[in-house]
Amino acid sequence: MNTETSQKLFEEARHLMPGGVNSPVRAFKSVGGNPVFMKSASGAWLTDVDGNRYLDLINSWGPMLLGHARPEVVQAVQEAAIHSFSFGTPTSAEVEMANLIIALVPGVEMVRMVNSGTEATLSAIRVARGFTGKEKIIKFEGCYHGHGDSFLIAAGSGAMTFGVPDSQGVTNAVAKDTLTAPYNDLETVKQLLVNNPDQVAAIILEPVVGNMGLVNPEPGFLQGLRDLCDEYGVVLIFDEVMTGFRLSAAGAQGLFGVRPDLSTFGKVIGGGLPVGAYGGRREIMEKVSPSGPVYQAGTLSGNPVAMAAGITMLKLIQADPELYTRLEQKSSSIEIGISEIFSEKGLPVCVNRCGSMFTVFFCEGPVRNYTEAKKADTIRFAQYFQALLSRGVYPAPSQFEAMFISDAVGEKEIAFLLEAVRGVVKDM
Ligand SMILES: *Cc1c(COP(=O)(O)O)cnc(C)c1O
Repeated sequence: MNTETSQKLFEEARHLMPGGVNSPVRAFKSVGGNPVFMKSASGAWLTDVDGNRYLDLINSWGPMLLGHARPEVVQAVQEAAIHSFSFGTPTSAEVEMANLIIALVPGVEMVRMVNSGTEATLSAIRVARGFTGKEKIIKFEGCYHGHGDSFLIAAGSGAMTFGVPDSQGVTNAVAKDTLTAPYNDLETVKQLLVNNPDQVAAIILEPVVGNMGLVNPEPGFLQGLRDLCDEYGVVLIFDEVMTGFRLSAAGAQGLFGVRPDLSTFGKVIGGGLPVGAYGGRREIMEKVSPSGPVYQAGTLSGNPVAMAAGITMLKLIQADPELYTRLEQKSSSIEIGISEIFSEKGLPVCVNRCGSMFTVFFCEGPVRNYTEAKKADTIRFAQYFQALLSRGVYPAPSQFEAMFISDAVGEKEIAFLLEAVRGVVKDM
C-alpha cells in the first residue's frame, strides 16, 4: 500500500501541530507508524490522500452512525449554509433540535446545546454542583469524559484516597474534588459516599464504556448507582456522548431502562459537525443561566449549520424503527465471525460488544473494568492493527477504544472485514 502523500503530510504536520495532529487519538503512538491522512469518504468506506480505500471501523469515533456523506445530511447542511453560518440570535433550528432530543430521550426534559462532548460534560458537573451545593464528584477509572480538568484524574493509591492529576497542568486542588472508583464496583461507590458525607454532587459515568475499549455495565450496576444517588442526594449523570443515539434512539438509558438526572451528548447528535448537548430534569436544568445562577454560554452554540446536520440525523433515526435492530444484527455477525476466527487459531481474545460498538481485547476475558482491560497485550494489538490497515480496514489505532459499525455496512462489507481478519489472524 502506497502512503507516500500521507507520510509527507505527516512530516510537515509534526512541525506545525503537537504530535502532528489536532487530537491525540488520531496519532499512531500506541501502534507505531504514522497516521494516514483521509481525503473523502462515502458510506462505509474511507479514501486516503494516496487513493487507498479502507473499510471504516471508527466512523469519526462514533458520529457517522448512518455512514459517511449521507445524502439527506449533506443536502440539509448545504441548504442551511446559504442562509449564513451563524447569527448569534435564536433560530428555529434550535427549537426543532430541542424538541427532537426531548422526544427521543425520556430522561431529558430540558436541554442546552454546546459545541463538543467536553463542553457538555464540564457544564453538566457545574450544574450538578450548583443544584446540590456540593463540590465533589465520583468518576470511574477508565471512563473518559472529555478533557475538562475535573475528569483528567487518576485513582490515588488505595481505593479510598483522593484522585491525583492524570495530566500535567491539572492542579491538586481540582484532583481533591474528584473521587474515583473501579467500573462495575458498587461497593466502592457506596464507601466513597459514606466517607464523604454530604459532599458528593454527582456521579458521572459512561453507561456503557467505549473509552477503555468496550466494557458493559454488569447487571444491576446502573440501577444500583441510581439507587445510591437517590439515597445520598447525588445527581446521576450518564455521559452518553458516545452511546447517545448509537445504542438506541434513547441511548444507553433507553437500552437499560435506567433514568439519569442529567445526560450529556456529542458525536452522533451532530452527524459529524461539532455539536454537544446536556440536558435532564427540568428542576436541575432551570439552574442554568440565564434562567438560573449556574453560568454557561457559547458564541456558536446551536449553530444553524451544525443544527441542520444534527436535526437531519435525529429525524432519520426517528423515522427508522428498524435501524437499531439492523445495527445489532450486523454487529452480532461481526462479533461471532471474529470470535470464531480467533478461537480456531487458539488465540485468547475477549470480544466485548454492545449494539454497534465492540472491542477485541487481546487477553482472556472477562474484561469488566480498567484493571482487567489493561491486561490486554498491546503489542499483539499493534500487530493486528497494522495488518488490518494494510488489508484495507481502518480500526481504532489503540487497544483501548471501541470500534463502530455504521448502517452503511452491508453483507459485502461484513464479508470483506471477516476475510481481512482471517488473513491477519492466520499470520499471527
Ligand atoms: C468523545 C467523548 C467525550 C468528549 O467529546 P469531545 O466532543 O471529543 O469533546 C466525552 N465523553 C465521552 C463518553 C466520549 O466518548
